[in-house]
Amino acid sequence: MNERERYRRAWRDLRLRRWSYFLGVPLFGIVATIFAVALNSVFGTIAGFLAVFPGLIIIHAWLRYRWENFRCPRCGHAFFIGIVFGIPYWRRFSKDCGTCHLPKGAGPV
Ligand SMILES: [Zn+2]
Repeated sequence: MNERERYRRAWRDLRLRRWSYFLGVPLFGIVATIFAVALNSVFGTIAGFLAVFPGLIIIHAWLRYRWENFRCPRCGHAFFIGIVFGIPYWRRFSKDCGTCHLPKGAGPV
């Protein structure tokens, strides 16, 4: 695999991670709510909501973790993590790498 192909795969992976977050969390939320309502109608309590809510938190955290920890194809550091006064922060809609400033979607030079 040459450098151009490696970068192309990395940007495709980033798109997949971002879309899986924006689609996965609401879709899982809808499915979990339907499941919880069905459980509640069977058992007559809020146990259904209590059963699916931790799952929604876990799915959200996992998808966010995957998006947040996307690695820059050039420098290998977390692409969306910036540092201000030594404190890291999440630059979720940043258009360049927080370390080497590689623009999002760029190829190798
Ligand atoms: Zn970088």
